[in-house]
Amino acid sequence: MPFSRLLPRSQKTGVMVATAFVFALLVAVLTLQTYYHTTKTVVEEINFTQLRVLSEAAAAASLTVDGEMLIVKKQDNSLSQTIVPNAVAQQEIINLFGKRNLPIEFRSEKPGAFASAVNWGFAILMLAFIGLVGWRLYASMGGGSGDFNLEDARGSQSVTFADVAGVDEAKNELAETIEFLRDPERFGRLGGRAPRGILLCGPPGTGKTLLARAAAHEAGVPFLSVSGSSFQEKFAGLGAARVRRLFTKARQLSPCVVFIDEIDALGRRRGRSSDSASADQDQTLNQLLIEMDGFAQLNGVVVIASTNRPDILDQALTRPGRFDREIAVNLADVRGREQILNVHARKLKLEEGMELSWIARGTPGFSGADLANLLNEAAIAATRHDAAAVGREHVEYARDKILMGAERHGFMIDEDERYTTAVHEAGHVAVGLDVKNGDPVHKVSILPRGRALGVTQSLPDRDRLMKKREYLEDQIAMLLGGRAAEQIVLDTMTAGASNDIERAVEIARRMVTEFGMSPLGPLHLGKPEDPHSQTLLDRVEQATNDIISAQMTRARDIVGSRRIEIDLLVAGLMERDTLDAEEIQICFNLKQKQRAA
Ligand code: ADP
Ligand code: ZN
Repeated sequence: MPFSRLLPRSQKTGVMVATAFVFALLVAVLTLQTYYHTTKTVVEEINFTQLRVLSEAAAAASLTVDGEMLIVKKQDNSLSQTIVPNAVAQQEIINLFGKRNLPIEFRSEKPGAFASAVNWGFAILMLAFIGLVGWRLYASMGGGSGDFNLEDARGSQSVTFADVAGVDEAKNELAETIEFLRDPERFGRLGGRAPRGILLCGPPGTGKTLLARAAAHEAGVPFLSVSGSSFQEKFAGLGAARVRRLFTKARQLSPCVVFIDEIDALGRRRGRSSDSASADQDQTLNQLLIEMDGFAQLNGVVVIASTNRPDILDQALTRPGRFDREIAVNLADVRGREQILNVHARKLKLEEGMELSWIARGTPGFSGADLANLLNEAAIAATRHDAAAVGREHVEYARDKILMGAERHGFMIDEDERYTTAVHEAGHVAVGLDVKNGDPVHKVSILPRGRALGVTQSLPDRDRLMKKREYLEDQIAMLLGGRAAEQIVLDTMTAGASNDIERAVEIARRMVTEFGMSPLGPLHLGKPEDPHSQTLLDRVEQATNDIISAQMTRARDIVGSRRIEIDLLVAGLMERDTLDAEEIQICFNLKQKQRAA
């Protein structure tokens, strides 16, 4: 058996590259030597007459034509040369050798000064290029750094399960794996089979990375992390090499945890298209599958991957022996949010009487990352105001900033634009207050934030796990309320409604194609690339439009019946920029009093 077969795959490639390198070196040395020889041998200069005589003599062995230079090699290996610029004269000598069947060799012309400079330049470029390729190759063979992050178990950024809150189920599911990592051999002897490929599925910012890191640290093993998108390489084949390198490192460190963030970047279904980028991705994924199959039961490497799109992963990835355990990491509910806030509030000074449960109640839909960000922004605001502790107003400010984008101060908007914006937002508010199943309106503002000129903020009053048809319809109506007010109050339309319309149509389309909430009945359209008949697509389009126009009519009706309230609201906004829930209520109750009077 050749020795290279005894080596694992990655080392075999190493040997191959080394062999190729030595071979290339050998060729280079030999070429140089030949060159050295031909130039340094003593050459006798002769004239043309002598050359012709020599060509007919028995001593002549071969002829070399090197541009204008003719070189004759004699039987005794000595060389004689002369310059023959005339092509006819050259031909005559060549014919003499030809007739005698003596070997004739043509060499390239001797370069001029410029040509030789170009040649040298080219040679240097070639060397540089070879150097670069070699360096890339070296880097890809394991010499490179910055490929992945390595954290020691006892590193300074050590996190424990106590730092991850609101995801108790996921923690329980990982307990067995930690047991395995603590002592892989004992675990094996007892006949246990811990999952070594775990898929954490959930929206961004829910703590998937944190969980994987904490699992490694709880087990006291190194944490190797890498982002799925880093496998998308400029050079074909390097992604696969990266995977190989990652697992070589993991085997060295074992027991350890390998974490692949956003694995969908490399784990998409194979064979989607024939372009070279997707072929390269397929190759990278194949390598990952090979590495995962190569785990021996005892080698103590656990691979944890995270994704928000488990549905687009290649099915081979989730087969037994690979990522065969799926753990859902979802947005936390109100209790979970309070626990997460607890973790992040540890290093903050909070105002007396401010309950974290109050913040938790006001932040449905916030991820762990959002909550961490919220407390951080609140702390910054408190510092800026020289407050002794973080208070409610700082938390409110931070929440507005996260939900609506930062306020943009110090740039002038003319009154006409402010008025138009106020009417548009008032339309959202009017519809939002009228519909029964939507999220309560919480705040409205015509201070420009981010790219928006105004914002109406509605917050779910509770965690919504189920979205009913009425809720979705109310949402669409509310989104269209801005446009309705433009049309009815101002008799115009603005481009500012484009985002509202986009979101409304998106909801309507999902109602038709995913939730089966249209006359077309339970329908699932699946992915855009799936084949569908044009008739079906036309009917889907029609059903979507029907939902939109019904809700548009509804929004216009509501706006039309609330003109007085809307005028009050607009006046309030023009005066104060921002109105909160209480002030909004005042506008609407005033109207009722006026009516009663
Ligand atoms: P993911 O990997 O799911 O996108 P991360 O683990 O990167 O999310 O979370 C980002 C940050 O958000 C964390 O570093 C942490 O500060 C905070 N965070 C997210 N989820 C939680 C949680 N469940 N408990 C505590 N902090 C969390
Ligand atoms: Zn709007």
